[in-house]
Amino acid sequence: MSPVEDQHIGAADILIVVDVQNDFCPGGALAVPHGDEVAPIINHIAARFRHVVLTQDWHPRGHFSFASSHPGKKPFATIAADYGPQVLWPDHCVQDSLGAAFHPALHIPHAALVLRKGMNPAIDSYSAFYENDRKTPTGLVGYLRERGFRRLFLAGLAFDFCVRYSAEDGKREGFAVTVIEDACRSIDIDDSAAATRKSLAVLGVNRVPNLAPI
Ligand SMILES: [Zn+2]
Repeated sequence: MSPVEDQHIGAADILIVVDVQNDFCPGGALAVPHGDEVAPIINHIAARFRHVVLTQDWHPRGHFSFASSHPGKKPFATIAADYGPQVLWPDHCVQDSLGAAFHPALHIPHAALVLRKGMNPAIDSYSAFYENDRKTPTGLVGYLRERGFRRLFLAGLAFDFCVRYSAEDGKREGFAVTVIEDACRSIDIDDSAAATRKSLAVLGVNRVPNLAPI
């Protein structure tokens, strides 16, 4: 775990809260174990940031990433998509459904932007920056650069999928990126949480257990 040199949060820092939605919490269609626990933790962290972005997985019905869109396939199987391997998921975060809504305990009224992703029916989007074809941008890089942010702090669900890919893309785009681990939970399919820690380390993404008290 690498230390963050300066945990004083300033004007060039932004918190990116990834997919804290009902379907990713216990009782939801694609529940991340203990996913709901992050809501109060993130609320507390967000109070220290002037700038916050929320992301929201937001799929049309019949989305390509749903196992139900592939006859004979079960959730959590991996298929070969045109753009590479794609894990198939239970139907989740369908646009305008209760499952796609933010968890009711998440309360960040000063968040400036809700970035929706996964809206292309034929491509999944784990990252808040690029769809899973790795080349279709969501526009978030432009927003962050134009606003002058330099350090990104990430929290949310799931650590080993959408938080991971968002953190890695943010780093590749030249931002300093820190994942706050106590504010994330993992799905952990086939050791994906361990693979995520390794990959973040290789790419130079910071991980901290929490933000030090001020
Ligand atoms: Zn999704």
